[in-house]
Amino acid sequence: MANAPQGSGRPGASLSARVQGIEPSGIRRIFELMATMEDPINLSIGQPHYDPPVELVEAACRAIRDGKNRYTVTQGLPELNAAILADIEHRHGRRPETCLLTAGVSGGLVLTFQCLLDPGDEILLPDPGFVMYRHLAALCGANVRYYDVYPKRPGGRFSVDLDEIERMCSERTKIVFVNSPSNPTGGVLTRAEIEGVCRIANRCGAYVVSDEIYDFFCYVDDYASPVTYADRCIQLGGYSKTYGIPGWRMGYATGPAAVLDAMKTLQQFSFVCAPAPFQHALLEAIPRIDLRPRHTEYLHKRDLVTRSLHPVYGLRAPEGSFYAFPQLPVVNGAPVDGAKFLQAALQQKLLIVPGKSFSARDTHFRISFAAEDAVLQRGIDVLNDLARQFA
Ligand code: PMP
Repeated sequence: MANAPQGSGRPGASLSARVQGIEPSGIRRIFELMATMEDPINLSIGQPHYDPPVELVEAACRAIRDGKNRYTVTQGLPELNAAILADIEHRHGRRPETCLLTAGVSGGLVLTFQCLLDPGDEILLPDPGFVMYRHLAALCGANVRYYDVYPKRPGGRFSVDLDEIERMCSERTKIVFVNSPSNPTGGVLTRAEIEGVCRIANRCGAYVVSDEIYDFFCYVDDYASPVTYADRCIQLGGYSKTYGIPGWRMGYATGPAAVLDAMKTLQQFSFVCAPAPFQHALLEAIPRIDLRPRHTEYLHKRDLVTRSLHPVYGLRAPEGSFYAFPQLPVVNGAPVDGAKFLQAALQQKLLIVPGKSFSARDTHFRISFAAEDAVLQRGIDVLNDLARQFA
């Protein structure tokens, strides 16, 4: 093989076994498809529709001009670490031991899984859930078990069944994973549910890893984090969605030093540090930014989607994030084929994500309401038309 041209040989022969089971994200495929379409109605998008606040953009430009372009220390600027920890203590009544700036929540997930999961360890993941989790767990050779977060009755909430988690959690369980507000369901776990999950994990000696990237987009009054209740919590937070800066690759992890120190060491040998000028920009600008109007705007979008899709799809109001996860139209007692529904939507230029991308089940689909109201309305009209077509 030494002299073989690149890309020749047996298919996949040069790839590690570890990556051969990993398929490209279905969402990426939709992204590529969209590039070929004229005037698509894109409700497949996983980022806010707005640009970052001007104060933040200016702070970033200033940081770059002022020469803040070198590496920072691995864990990130100490002042930013301190500000994050103070904010968490303020919001959740408990101060995590330490903090690490990461290359987005994605970077935090890679480091957390690599540092906690050995081959054969169990991790409990939500079904449906964000696609990245299961692939990163598989890279570690971990056994993934899924707990069900689908509504237990028609019109019910997307939430956890604590009895099920209790049955699944054992001394083999290394991580109980929580994502609230959820991608793709829009569900937010209640304080009692969060407390319940943490109680079970505490009893089993498991870590609770909490992906809180959508914490800003919460439409219920009480937002609870495992930080408050878990004995061993790795909390992952991010700036991509809140500030409209997914391309900046900024996130953070908090938790016990015993784990975070290992994550820091691994970051030294992988991502090195979170982007330096953006750390400076966030540190400087966040105290001056008022995002409340954005929150109100997204609450309105959530209400528009719910009001418009409830009558035909029975959609219940998402409690958080900017996703809704309606059920596929049901014909003769069974949901219509997800692929056919997606295809029919595409014919009307509407891009949505099949539930199958997030789940073993093919009963739902995800729409993102992070779009201009006019685009959202066009998408809603197509969806209501599709429901009639499939009925
Ligand atoms: N977690 C969830 C639930 C997400 O939806 C995303 C982005 N789609 C991420 C993590 C990763 O976000 P980032 O790396 O941009 O912080």
